[in-house]
Amino acid sequence: MSKIINNIHHIRATMQEALRQAGRSDQDVQLIAVSKTRSVSDIREAITAGQRHFGENRVQEAVTKFTTLRSEYSNLELHLIGPLQTNKVDEAVTLFDVIQTLDRPKLAQALAKAMLKAQRKPRLYVEINIGYEPQKAGVVPEKLDDFLGYCREDLGLILEGLMCIPPHNVNPKPYFDAMKKLVDQQKMEHLSMGMSADFVEAIMAGATDIRVGSALFGERDVAII
Ligand SMILES: *Cc1c(COP(=O)(O)O)cnc(C)c1O
Repeated sequence: MSKIINNIHHIRATMQEALRQAGRSDQDVQLIAVSKTRSVSDIREAITAGQRHFGENRVQEAVTKFTTLRSEYSNLELHLIGPLQTNKVDEAVTLFDVIQTLDRPKLAQALAKAMLKAQRKPRLYVEINIGYEPQKAGVVPEKLDDFLGYCREDLGLILEGLMCIPPHNVNPKPYFDAMKKLVDQQKMEHLSMGMSADFVEAIMAGATDIRVGSALFGERDVAII
């Protein structure tokens, strides 16, 4: 069996065990295979193993790799998990099913306009800067109410979830717990958190979307976040 297929089976088993321990059902979490920097043939292998949700960080790379794949496999779900510039929103709205990194009013305006123009509505999550890190994107928790109000009332957007990348190399649990609280307060459906190193903790804390790259495809040559 190929390494990638083997990894997927292993991750799925680990997810099931975490879900069982947390008293949650198997349908409660979706595995997003983070395919940034990976080849189309690696992605095909993952599809062969039944993988359907993929995450990409860059619009252009995703367009290049997924335009053909999408026409071959009708049930792929593509998530944008990297920063989105306003000059890329038209392409992003055309390609992605979920945009997880909505983080500022200007981007919300551009997305609302692009969605109207394309007559296509990707699902939207708001990125939260849960560790208050100056170098990171995301809305800080205190500003979330205002930001959601603006997106919903002024722009008519529907926001289905929250996502975060907690601070690196520290115990993520307090951040995951804080995210779970926010998503519950907002009565949102999706909570995207947990990567290769900490997806079990994320599932225990209530994640609904985990984003796994290196544990699934192997180590990346290029370090990009
Ligand atoms: C790269 C990336 C991941 C996956 O990271 P791994 O540690 O390889 O699992 C998840 N989320 C985001 C936003 C990423 O940029």
